[in-house]
Amino acid sequence: MNEDTLLIASALDFAARKHVHQRRKGVDKEPYVNHLAEVARLLAEATDGADANLVAAGLLHDTIEDQGVRYEELVEAFGRDIADLVREVTDDKTLEKAERKRLQVEHAPHKSERARMLKIADKTSNLRAICNSPPAEWSEQRKREYFDWAGRVVAGCRGVNDRLEAAFDAAWKQGAF
Ligand code: ZN
Repeated sequence: MNEDTLLIASALDFAARKHVHQRRKGVDKEPYVNHLAEVARLLAEATDGADANLVAAGLLHDTIEDQGVRYEELVEAFGRDIADLVREVTDDKTLEKAERKRLQVEHAPHKSERARMLKIADKTSNLRAICNSPPAEWSEQRKREYFDWAGRVVAGCRGVNDRLEAAFDAAWKQGAF
């Protein structure tokens, strides 16, 4: 029995169910699970498939923040390591959006290496989405501001994985707004 295969399949199933009604913000309104799959794939490729828990956390990384899943539920279903990773990349939703964004920049360098990897993969996926399927109401300036902010968050995450950083930099270069 391959535990990693079971883990990834159950994390994907859990995430797909929790995010079932959520769509990405872009004009294509892609199912949200596409974002989760992209983040998981970036993490799997960047680590040569060596860290199944990190890939599972990639699939689950927005369940607390966007779907109100409780940390304890993740602990019970997937164990503390994965639940801790998800919690580490979860914003405090009781705060204003601007404050949450500011704290992401401030906290990034103090996160664990694996949480920083997850952050880079997340931001890479988001930048790609803004290039390929931007939200209809976003001005060029708003896109520029998102790119600049994502760049500041990732600046605090660097030094953990060359491939992830290269993927982020490639996505960043696409955004000539
Ligand atoms: Zn995300």
